[in-house]
Amino acid sequence: MTALGTPSQPLRVAVIGSGPAAFYAVEQLFKQPALVAEVDMFERLPAPHGLVRYGVAPDHAKIKTVTRAYDTIAGHARFRFFGNVEFGRHVTLADLPRHYHQVIFATGAQTDRQMGIPGEDLAGSHAATEFVAWYNGHPDYRGCQFDLSVDRAAVVGVGNVAIDVARILMRTPEELVKTDMASHALDALRGSRIHEVFLLGRRGPAQAAFTNPEVKELGEMAGADVVVRPEEVQLDPLSQAQVEAANDRTLVRKIEILQGYAVRKSEGKPRRLHVRFLVSPVELLGDEQGRVTRMRLVRNRLVASGTGDIKAEATGEFEDLEVGLVFRSVGYRGVSLPDVPFDERRGVIPNDRGRVIDPDSKGQVPGLYVAGWIKRGPSGVIGTNKPDSAETVASMVADVEQGAHWQPSEPDAGAAEALVLARQPLAVTYADWRRLDALECTQGQACGRPRLKFASVEEMLAALGRASTC
Ligand code: NAP
Repeated sequence: MTALGTPSQPLRVAVIGSGPAAFYAVEQLFKQPALVAEVDMFERLPAPHGLVRYGVAPDHAKIKTVTRAYDTIAGHARFRFFGNVEFGRHVTLADLPRHYHQVIFATGAQTDRQMGIPGEDLAGSHAATEFVAWYNGHPDYRGCQFDLSVDRAAVVGVGNVAIDVARILMRTPEELVKTDMASHALDALRGSRIHEVFLLGRRGPAQAAFTNPEVKELGEMAGADVVVRPEEVQLDPLSQAQVEAANDRTLVRKIEILQGYAVRKSEGKPRRLHVRFLVSPVELLGDEQGRVTRMRLVRNRLVASGTGDIKAEATGEFEDLEVGLVFRSVGYRGVSLPDVPFDERRGVIPNDRGRVIDPDSKGQVPGLYVAGWIKRGPSGVIGTNKPDSAETVASMVADVEQGAHWQPSEPDAGAAEALVLARQPLAVTYADWRRLDALECTQGQACGRPRLKFASVEEMLAALGRASTC
């Protein structure tokens, strides 16, 4: 019998999702010295790259160049991409063991966490993740409406996503036109009347999740001044001790930058971005039409938690902030997949170093693996997924060595392709995607922009000369 993982009997792996974690897992599989792997990647949308395309801020073009590495991985002779193919609809979990030895789920975290406060569902209160997907041209969010005719907006949270959203709201049309932002969003933001944005951190500057380059970038915006209250960036004794113990130059610098903003004179720019600390929204209040008009904030003090962390504790002192638009940006959350175990509390697929674990028996579910945010939760930057995916692939390889994998009855690439095309005749290949990519760039350059994104599945299929039925 031929050994699995050889040229005549390659290890056949299905990968669900096409973001960074998915591509790094494929890269690892192809890098294995003693294993020949054959990979089919399935993606619900015709366009790959997940949050690199639909999450990274449009004014952070350099970060997106990471997709060149993904194109190289996709160029491997034993790689195939099936875009516009949805797991659970076109291809189910029950189909996979017939054609593959293993499957990796790398579907990310597709929804957001909620604040859990009264008024959160008022009109004008949105998930930041929806706004991000909308301005990045995600087909599912094209129809979203954000009322940009209001004067003031609040963004809750001080993570990287919150700062992206605040910055995009504050950018001038001249700054935005240079980006690959979706045209519908660019048009809407051109007409925006928002001139004040409040970025709200529940803890202090020493605990803020955003990074130094991003804080510095705020001070360099063409049309907006940064406003920081001096008393909110003075370190309390607990934070002071935490910073000293951390001995982290980057953290010290972050606090210095913020303290610098607190003493900076206004440059008289037309818009103002207020970066606030030690405040938590406790309620959103609305008008008779059910539209948000105000946010009630409670001031916090910092206290040591039982686990040694520093946490926010409400003081009982309140203030009201007039805002017509609210974006909660308090973290992403994973979504369950049909027939795949899921930990509702953590929003992840339960796993041990990438091996999916049955929550009842606590045993491994043979053949099933996870990588990225659906494995560990929504943390880290794009590069964090490299070691994360490598860990998963190491588990997969160890299991292959033990013979612990599916035994597909039809392990040839042609049979899997026939199944996919029977279920979804409009499946898109990586070569199709490269054509779409080139078309977007050509169309953008014709009007002085880096790229004009196709923002619907229909547009993408039409550009490929394929009729859409979905
Ligand atoms: P995040 O970094 O986890 O930040 C979440 C923020 O929400 C924190 O400031 C957190 O405060 C706050 N928060 C949580 N619950 C809250 C509540 N109930 N009330 C008020 N505030 C609350 O999440 P993210 O910004 O969504 O980013 C997700 C991941 O993507 C991160 O790993 C991030 O680094 C990454 N990302 C990176 C980039 C980049 O590298 N440029 C860009 C975008 C995203 P506490 O700290 O007090 O909990």
